[in-house]
Amino acid sequence: MSQKQSSLNHVSIPTTTPATWLGVMGGGQLGRMFAHAAQAMGFKVAVLEQEDDCPAGQVADRLIRTSYTDPKGLDELASLCGAVTTEFENVSAESLAALAAKTYVAPSASGVSIAQDRIAEKSFFVDCSAASGVQPAPHKIIATEADIDAIPADLLPGILKTVRMGYDGKGQVRVRSIADVKAAFAEMKGVTCLLEKMLPLAYEVSVLVARGADGDAVVYPIAENVHRDGILFTTTVPSDHVSDAVAKKAQDAALAIIAKLDYVGVLCIEFFVLTDGALVVNEMAPRPHNSGHYTIDACITSQFEQQARAMARLPLGDVRQHSPAVMLNILGDVWYEGDSDSDSDSGNDNMREPAWDKILALPGAHLHLYGKAQARRARKMGHITFVAPTMAQAQAQLAAACAILGIAQ
Ligand code: ATP
Ligand code: MG
Repeated sequence: MSQKQSSLNHVSIPTTTPATWLGVMGGGQLGRMFAHAAQAMGFKVAVLEQEDDCPAGQVADRLIRTSYTDPKGLDELASLCGAVTTEFENVSAESLAALAAKTYVAPSASGVSIAQDRIAEKSFFVDCSAASGVQPAPHKIIATEADIDAIPADLLPGILKTVRMGYDGKGQVRVRSIADVKAAFAEMKGVTCLLEKMLPLAYEVSVLVARGADGDAVVYPIAENVHRDGILFTTTVPSDHVSDAVAKKAQDAALAIIAKLDYVGVLCIEFFVLTDGALVVNEMAPRPHNSGHYTIDACITSQFEQQARAMARLPLGDVRQHSPAVMLNILGDVWYEGDSDSDSDSGNDNMREPAWDKILALPGAHLHLYGKAQARRARKMGHITFVAPTMAQAQAQLAAACAILGIAQ
C-alpha cells in the first residue's frame, strides 16, 4: 500500500487484545517517553535499537535488537507496526524508505532528511521565508579552502558548524578571522561546514508544532530555552521575555513551515530573538524535543501523546497549557561531588546519588529519570518539571532544586 493510501486509514486504539503496535527507531529517552504515552493510550510499542539496556528498550513491549540499517530488523518492525516513527534525526533515509514500503512512516523521509543536513535546512528556511516571515542567520557553505578565501567580511565573527550530525553544540567552533576558519576547518578534517554569522542574541525560543495526515495542525505555547555549554539547561513557559507579538510571529512561522514540509507528526523549531527584537529561525528537529518535555506535566496533551496520535492518524490533542512550568535538565554531573574537571568519569569514588527525596518534597516537582545505568558528565540522565499556580512559584522551586543538586543557577 502506498504512503498516501495508508495515510487514509487510521490505526485504531485497541479495545481488545492483541493491541495495535506503534514502532520507534531508536532507544533513547525520547523513545522511552513516547512509549509511556502510547502505552497509556493502549498501544503496544516496539523499539528498534542495538543496545540492550537502553531507556526505550526497558519499557518497550518488544525490543528489536539490530542496527538501524539492518534489513531484517527493519522488516520485523514494519511488519509488526501499524505506524513507525523515529526518535533521533540521524536515521538514514534508506531505512525510512525501507520501512515506508511496508508501513506508514511519520514523519516521512523527506522531512527528516532536510533536518539532517544544515545546508538543506537553511535553504529550505530561505525558500519558505515568504510564507513563514522569518529568515535564518546569514551563512555560507564551506566545502573547500577556496570557499574560505571568499568569505565576505560581514560573516565574521561567526560559528563554523558541521553540516551533518551536530547536536548539543557538538561540531561547532566560534571563529573571529579567516585564519580561525582555516584552522577550524582543518580540525574538522575537511568535512563540509556551514559558516554562520554570530548574531547578538537576546534570548532563544522554540515552538513545538504538530500536524496530522489530514493537514490539521496545532501549535504549542512558545518556550524560552537557556543553554549551558551547548546543552539545554532550562525551558520556561511562559517566559516574561517573550512578547505576545514575538510569540505569535514564531507560532505562525512554525505553522507555515510544517505545512510547507507537508509533515506528519511533532516538529520542534528553534528560533533566536535578537537584541533589536528580530526573530531568526535557527534549526528544526523532526521529532519531540527536549524543550517540549514540559508538555508532559503542564499541557493537556504531551508532545509524546501528540506524536502517537499523529502517526496513528487519530485526531490531534488539545495543546493548552494548564500550569506555568519550568523544566530543568538533569545531567550526569549531579552524581559527582563538586565540579572539578579532574574528576574521573569512570571511577565512582566521588559519586553520590542525588537527593531525590528532597527534590520530590518540593511542591509541583515532577521527576523523570531515563533509566541510564551510568551517570557521565554532560549526559542527559533525566529532567524535572516544576509546575505551579504562578511562574514565580515554579521559579522558586527551580532555585530550591538547584541548591539541593549543587547546580549553580
Ligand atoms: P542542539 O541540537 O542542541 O539544538 P546544535 O548543536 O544543533 O544544537 P545550534 O542549535 O545550531 O546547534 O547551536 C547551538 C547554540 O549555539 C544555540 O542554541 C545558540 O546558543 C548558539 N548559536 C548557534 N548559532 C548561532 C548564531 N548564528 N549566532 C549566535 N549564537 C548561535
Ligand atoms: Mg539547537
